[in-house]
Amino acid sequence: VELDRANGKALKLFTPGPVDISPAASEGLARPLIHHRTDRFREVMDRFQANLKTAFQTCDGVVTLASSGTGGMEALVANLFSAGERVFVPVGGKFSNRWVEICEAYGVSVHRSELPPGGSPAPELAARALREDEEVCAVLLTHCETSTGSLTDVRGISKAVRDLERSGGRRVLICVDCVTSLCIDELLKDVWGIDCAVGASQKGLLSPPGLSFLSVGPRAIERMMMPRSPRYYFDLRKYLEDHRDAPFTPSVSLVRAAAESLDHILELGLENVWRANRSAASALRLLGEAAGLRPLARHQASAVVAFWTDELDAGGIRRTLESEHGMVIAGGQGPLAGKIIRISALGKGPAGIMEFARAFARTMAQLGRYCHVDEIAGDLERILEDCKIWE
Ligand SMILES: *Cc1c(COP(=O)(O)O)cnc(C)c1O
Repeated sequence: VELDRANGKALKLFTPGPVDISPAASEGLARPLIHHRTDRFREVMDRFQANLKTAFQTCDGVVTLASSGTGGMEALVANLFSAGERVFVPVGGKFSNRWVEICEAYGVSVHRSELPPGGSPAPELAARALREDEEVCAVLLTHCETSTGSLTDVRGISKAVRDLERSGGRRVLICVDCVTSLCIDELLKDVWGIDCAVGASQKGLLSPPGLSFLSVGPRAIERMMMPRSPRYYFDLRKYLEDHRDAPFTPSVSLVRAAAESLDHILELGLENVWRANRSAASALRLLGEAAGLRPLARHQASAVVAFWTDELDAGGIRRTLESEHGMVIAGGQGPLAGKIIRISALGKGPAGIMEFARAFARTMAQLGRYCHVDEIAGDLERILEDCKIWE
């Protein structure tokens, strides 16, 4: 079957998840299955648990669920809140809006604040919402809004919320969707005072989709122990009992793929990985700007760079890149469909990104837009030095 190939070569993913999986993930995935109620698997889980704590920069436990990232988000909402309770969500795109949709499905009332496309919530916005609305018991954030490439100042918002907690004598949990920041952008869960953080396997962990990770702090566990929304498979109390023995059959092969990939990422060094991803995003931004495209994000995240395509045909750019160069990028979602393109180079080295840059320039030229890629080649190569860790 040639469906996933172009010109006889495998397609390369420049999408913000799933991303091309790492060689370590491929090896983990290909290993013969082991039974999950064995010491061998418990050892895998022990090491994975310790490494996930490092990835989140937390001392709190991490639950691994057999679900994509959204399942992890839903598990948090179901376990933390009851119908009628109130939360604050700043909405800057499709993924922050997902928090709203999940809450509404559980009857949790949402105080929402709309941001312009490419905007990030300011700490003052959260502080004001909490001052005005005394019923709010949690703030739900999206660290990197993947639909626009915007980074949220989680550290700043968390500090504003804690200051307010201290002066107002109330408790406000901070839950963060870190699906496109885990192992991608600087994320310091404990230092920043995050109660709950969600991650997934198919983004920064360079592994196949299908797992979500939840790091849950003591204040959140306290809430979970009280009667909340109906829950069974995603009842986190069951998972928190023992990270080595999940209540239900874990996704053994996916766990091994993600565990081996994470092993490799931590061998490279988390800070080196953050730096490589940041540089890859800078290079992509420079490339798009060289083609005259305007980036959406005011505060650029590392996982994905989004550009307005204005009068150019966004679908045409994507189709040409795929059919002629075997490279897949993403388009816009919801109201941004047809108006933007989104590019991600997670886990890609300088050679792979330069190859993309030349293919992108040729594609743009075909659509009548000159892209000065030769003029910026020296700058790109210099920025991409940091990405050599992947080669
Ligand atoms: C990818 C992603 C998710 C999870 O999506 P799934 O398709 O359920 O894995 C959640 N939040 C953000 C910001 C994402 O980028």
